[in-house]
Amino acid sequence: MQLTPLPAFNDNYLWLWHNHTHAVVVDPGDGEVVLQALQRTQLQLQAILVTHHHADHTGGVDMLRNATQATVYGPAGEAIPGPFVPVSGGDAFDWQGHRIEVIDVPGHTAGHIAYFVPAAHTTPLLFCGDTLFSGGCGRLFEGTAAQMLDSLDRLAALPGNTQVCCAHEYTLSNLRFAMAVEPHNAELLAYHALCQRLRAQDQPTLPSTLAQELAINPFMRSRQASVVQAVTQRYPQALDEVAVFAQLREWKNKF
Ligand code: ZN
Ligand code: FE
Repeated sequence: MQLTPLPAFNDNYLWLWHNHTHAVVVDPGDGEVVLQALQRTQLQLQAILVTHHHADHTGGVDMLRNATQATVYGPAGEAIPGPFVPVSGGDAFDWQGHRIEVIDVPGHTAGHIAYFVPAAHTTPLLFCGDTLFSGGCGRLFEGTAAQMLDSLDRLAALPGNTQVCCAHEYTLSNLRFAMAVEPHNAELLAYHALCQRLRAQDQPTLPSTLAQELAINPFMRSRQASVVQAVTQRYPQALDEVAVFAQLREWKNKF
């Protein structure tokens, strides 16, 4: 099995996962980018996984469905270009002998879902759309801070070696914020240096791993004393974990 991030637009990644014959693509905002990759690699697209309804994740769905007859899976609670198989948290389906599990992760949008592959090849895979980014999380467009905290908790419970396939290359700007929150987090500083080297060579910083995110991502660490202290210093009115998370998100929005 092979996993390839296809760059699209300014900073999107369309994840192509394949066994050298058959392929899955996640969140194809740009169908042309995917078609070119399929032609280049002689892959047959069988499934399209959509995490949420935003155009940069769905713009190529109709074109790819028509061109390949791939089956489209998408969030049961959102309007994405149909026909598609609506799925939600707790559902699972099979692709080429791999079980793909659906996790509800509302917050960025109200019906956002993630796809988790427990036995992908050597490590589990997570396609999390705009919910979890390396070093950050999605903006709260439709959901609440409580929902997003809950969603990230659900992802945090997955195995540490899970490869985290996010939909955007936001890592360096996220890490600049993370370092403002936790300036003494040594693992964060080392990870930032690594990601700077990767970007300088025009390489993706993704996939990340869940263990890495738990060590460096302030939104996955919002109950850590260092993060709580940094937030409450600025926002003394943040009195519980949801309020701390909400203010952390607010601080990032203005950063
Ligand atoms: Zn989005
Ligand atoms: Fe997006």
